[in-house]
Amino acid sequence: MILTGLLTLLLLVIGGGYFIGRAAVREVAVARLQSDFVASVTHELRTPITAMRQLSELLATGRVAGAEDRDEYHRALVRESERLHRLVEGLLTFGRMEAGADYLRFEPLDPAQFFKAVIDEFHREETAPGHHVELQAEQGIPQVHADREALACVLWNLLDNAVKYSPECPTVWASVACEDAHVVFRVRDRGMGIPVREQRKIFEKFVRGAAARNAGIRGVGVGLSMAQLIIAAHHGKIRVESRLGEGSVFTVLLPAYKNIPQDQSSPDEVRHG
Ligand code: ADP
Repeated sequence: MILTGLLTLLLLVIGGGYFIGRAAVREVAVARLQSDFVASVTHELRTPITAMRQLSELLATGRVAGAEDRDEYHRALVRESERLHRLVEGLLTFGRMEAGADYLRFEPLDPAQFFKAVIDEFHREETAPGHHVELQAEQGIPQVHADREALACVLWNLLDNAVKYSPECPTVWASVACEDAHVVFRVRDRGMGIPVREQRKIFEKFVRGAAARNAGIRGVGVGLSMAQLIIAAHHGKIRVESRLGEGSVFTVLLPAYKNIPQDQSSPDEVRHG
């Protein structure tokens, strides 16, 4: 009797210890992710600010001789300020999506036209000098019901990642098509790829892949997490297929507008969270 009681007590102690230990390990992991995130954001903010300060100082002191050099410095200044703007806007959007703010404004969009406009802007902003995005767009595909800004943010992030993580390959391939009553956006690169064990984790906030961190590639680890929140609010899905060392394909599926159930398509706002 006493022995049974002692055994039960021992089991309870071991079980309790195990769960407390697991919770502690998880807490430590979350704390590490958060501190990595703060370090990444600090670095990401400091880089363009430093570049902008140096460029504007050079221009202000008149030490740049030729008009061609001056133009190049001005372009660099614009590029760095766009980068800063995108980072801050991205973080604000992420915060809003996480807080479930009522800010999505849905409207019917032509997917091919829309993706082309996002890619044109991506090229115009020279976000990725030396890279080119090739778009293959199926004709006559149905509209989607989407928030313009939020969907652009998702597609932009996928393009930006494809470029960032394929430094050796100058081309990124984008496509938009209709498959099984869904509009399907794809972004493919022939870059570093993502190991299978990381392919789910990268959609969690603040998570960055080991290769990305080790290679010192810029990033703060919220792009895919935000993309997932936005796409879920559109009743869609986002997926990745990837092979380490060969490249990745990110796929966004959105229901074709005519197939969205009435109760989901009618409101012009969605609260997510
Ligand atoms: P960030 O790029 O700022 O780190 P994301 O949330 O956009 O954050 O991506 C999370 C992680 O997913 C990245 O750190 C990287 O490891 C991996 N990743 C995303 N896109 C790609 C890609 N196209 N190729 C390889 N790895 C990728």
